[in-house]
Amino acid sequence: MKVVAYSIKPFEKEFLAKANKKKHEITLIANPLGLETIAYAEGKDAVVVFANDDVSAPVVNKLADMGIKYIATRSAGTDHFDKEAAAERGISLANVPVYSSQAIAEHAVALALSLNRHIIEAHEHGQQFDFKLNGLIGFNFFGKTVGLIGLGHIGQAIAAIYNGFGCRVIGYDIAMPDGLIDIESLSLDEVLRQSDIISLHLPLTPATKYIINAASIAIMKNGVMLINTSRGGLLNTIDALEALEQGKIGYLGMDVYEHEKGLFFEDHQQDLNKDSLLQKLMTHDNVIITPHQAFLTSEALQQMADETIKNLDLWQKDRFVLSEII
Ligand code: NAD
Repeated sequence: MKVVAYSIKPFEKEFLAKANKKKHEITLIANPLGLETIAYAEGKDAVVVFANDDVSAPVVNKLADMGIKYIATRSAGTDHFDKEAAAERGISLANVPVYSSQAIAEHAVALALSLNRHIIEAHEHGQQFDFKLNGLIGFNFFGKTVGLIGLGHIGQAIAAIYNGFGCRVIGYDIAMPDGLIDIESLSLDEVLRQSDIISLHLPLTPATKYIINAASIAIMKNGVMLINTSRGGLLNTIDALEALEQGKIGYLGMDVYEHEKGLFFEDHQQDLNKDSLLQKLMTHDNVIITPHQAFLTSEALQQMADETIKNLDLWQKDRFVLSEII
């Protein structure tokens, strides 16, 4: 197949080359897909994208006009796809539904541990040769209650880690998967009410948009730790900032941000107008923000590349693609 792959960072090239084995003719583009970069798709059969590419209706329609038949995202999340527009124009969509759930789970726990034990402040002070302990007191995870919202692949991977710490792990999922081990399933409100640490592991859908907002924060414990490695739109960031300023949220770890598109994955140091909401969050020592990097392990990158190439292989042979999005 002739393919154009957008949002390709230099470090991804070796993983894609290893997966592709020169089967498909892939043009690698550093920029994200959008109306300004769509011309690279001219003459191709398929387009490969990532989580922050623009795959909205105008882009999908233009791609269909150009003869594109397939769009594969290297991400698990599919919230960037306009699925209706693609279906209407006969474009097949696929994602990588599962890849190294541990990569994301481990990053979510890394955020929680770093916030709790003030690792970043201690390191920054230490670099100034300030080795005082003031302000660095944390709490034991052992014996605390961790609430997982979303108990799919990543939710279950993180449950295993927190169980290892000796935490009580409770969780809520609309589907309540069978065979959950060591996770007490409760209603959403009970999970919010009882948890010392809340970790979000849901897809972004109309039903989950702003699932964490002023009303849901109000029923949480005072000083709760909130970790979001899923999608920024799950959290109403303005409400979270207000709750931080009132001390209701004690710690906030975000690997995703609702306005991250066009911002994360690139260097914006020289921008004259910086995102003011993000800047306000960054003034708080009890906030850690990472730029959507929870997936960024070599194991996960290889799996994302392997599964994406597998989707292209199957489409080319007109065979059933398991992760096709209907
Ligand atoms: P998954 O599909 O295995 O699990 C998601 C769970 O959410 C499912 O069990 C589902 O039943 C539940 N769910 C869906 N809608 C719900 C609702 N309205 N209320 C309650 N539960 C609901 O997905 P996963 O592999 O665990 O990934 C979760 C999310 O993590 C992805 O959708 C993606 O957005 C995000 N993600 C982020 C990164 C990153 O680098 N930060 C990487 C991979 C995935």
